[in-house]
Amino acid sequence: MRRKYVIAGNWKMNKNPTEAAALIGELKPLVNDARCDVIVGVPFVDLPAALEAVKGSKIGVAAQNCHWEKSGAFTGEISAEMLKSMGVEYVIIGHSERRTYFGDTDITVQKRVRAALDAGLTVILCVGEYLEQREQGVTGEICAMQTKIALGGVSGNEMSRIIIAYEPVWAIGTGRTATAEQANEVCALIRDTVSGLYGSRTADSTIIQYGGSMNASNAAELLAQPDVDGGLIGGASLKPADFAAIVSSADNA
Ligand code: PEP
Repeated sequence: MRRKYVIAGNWKMNKNPTEAAALIGELKPLVNDARCDVIVGVPFVDLPAALEAVKGSKIGVAAQNCHWEKSGAFTGEISAEMLKSMGVEYVIIGHSERRTYFGDTDITVQKRVRAALDAGLTVILCVGEYLEQREQGVTGEICAMQTKIALGGVSGNEMSRIIIAYEPVWAIGTGRTATAEQANEVCALIRDTVSGLYGSRTADSTIIQYGGSMNASNAAELLAQPDVDGGLIGGASLKPADFAAIVSSADNA
């Protein structure tokens, strides 16, 4: 049986709470009959409005980061426990924008993953190579390494709460999408990495998304690939009709 599809939006630093509620209000009727899982990843300040707005729908809500400590002297940070306490179910961890601009490393990603699982959240773990790394031919090594380090200390049972998003950095927000073959090749390689760590049964049931300029036009081809189980979508997730079209591509894949 094919794995289920998971389509998640990453709104990045866009939309205030009023706008977030309005966007979800538009999206709801468009995805209510979706068979795949649908998630919106919103800024921290939008979480209460988003949680309220998704009520009565099948849309899940994700935060875009969390800290690894439960509480303490970490000005400006939000803990996984805090997210869980307000009803958040998902958290995006290790997004390349966090790694590139905010100093996230493989080790801090590992710590955030651990904390999120301990708090009872489901993690969308992002891995992916820079353009220079792809050109040097080390995409496989980079993605395998990021995956292995992030999952250090995660048990096989906990893998049901890990979604991995393969996000080539050169494709994020650039309009330059990986080809379906490139996306599938790396998603398959990440699955092999998971298999090496946890065995093939766990690997076969792990959701591995592609992210990087996925949109309403290219989603069907990407999602038709056997190892691509969904998408993490930035720009197009801010347009309800486009995001809903991607959801429907997943349902029809
Ligand atoms: C992302 O932010 O994870 C992403 C894939 O962005 P975009 O779809 O805009 O490339």
